[in-house]
Amino acid sequence: MMTDYSPHIFRIQRYSIHDGPGIRTTLFFQGCPLHCRWCHNPESQARDGNETLMPAPGLIDSLIREIEKDLIYYDGSGGGATFSGGEPLCRPGLLMALLAACREREIHTCLDTSGHAPFRILEPAARAADLVLYDIKIADEEDHKRLTGRSSRLILDNLKQLSELNIPVRLRFPLVPSMTDSRENIGRIIDFLLRNTGYRDIHILPFHNTGEGKYRQLNMKNHATGINPPGPDAVESAARVFDRSGFNTTIGG
Ligand code: SF4
Repeated sequence: MMTDYSPHIFRIQRYSIHDGPGIRTTLFFQGCPLHCRWCHNPESQARDGNETLMPAPGLIDSLIREIEKDLIYYDGSGGGATFSGGEPLCRPGLLMALLAACREREIHTCLDTSGHAPFRILEPAARAADLVLYDIKIADEEDHKRLTGRSSRLILDNLKQLSELNIPVRLRFPLVPSMTDSRENIGRIIDFLLRNTGYRDIHILPFHNTGEGKYRQLNMKNHATGINPPGPDAVESAARVFDRSGFNTTIGG
């Protein structure tokens, strides 16, 4: 059986409880168009192109077998498979094949995306998944570019279109001290969501610095060195701002 899934998938995490509802198996896709300064998966950033070619059938069969190992846990917990990264929309051929195979087997799926992809790629994947986990990090275009390498424009436009199509989305806001946590940024995000989408559920993901060792191993600069995870007061305070604007706020995945 195939066990090396590179260069398509760089990690498979079983028994995950932070990547959507219930107990899940998360497949981390290689490649990401963003370079978020707080990223704790720097190994995902080696590629950033859109690879539309369909991967070998052996790869898909092998990955489905991995997902099926924990069917019993999905059934008991309302879980399933999550396609994360990196950015799974960088590999639409593989992603669509896996989403279709899971739907055929009635396995619940989440698409965990930064939203930075052409809508013609995002839309079919979002429709093929049961739930989209969508990161909203920084609203201001220039700040987004400075801290992730790309403008927020495409991400915000895509989210507006998903909302117009009533695609089920769980928003996720990474709370990163000195990068995303300003009242100004949170205010702009709220303003955008209220004006342009019907989404009112948001999950706050407090920053953690578990990527430090990986940056050392990969000989990459970690821009988040020295940043500590936000304390409980800071997390609560951010949650209150969303709550007061009418959002259902959850701390964590
Ligand atoms: S979108 Fe996610 S995987 Fe990509 S650079 Fe940002 S934090 Fe890392």
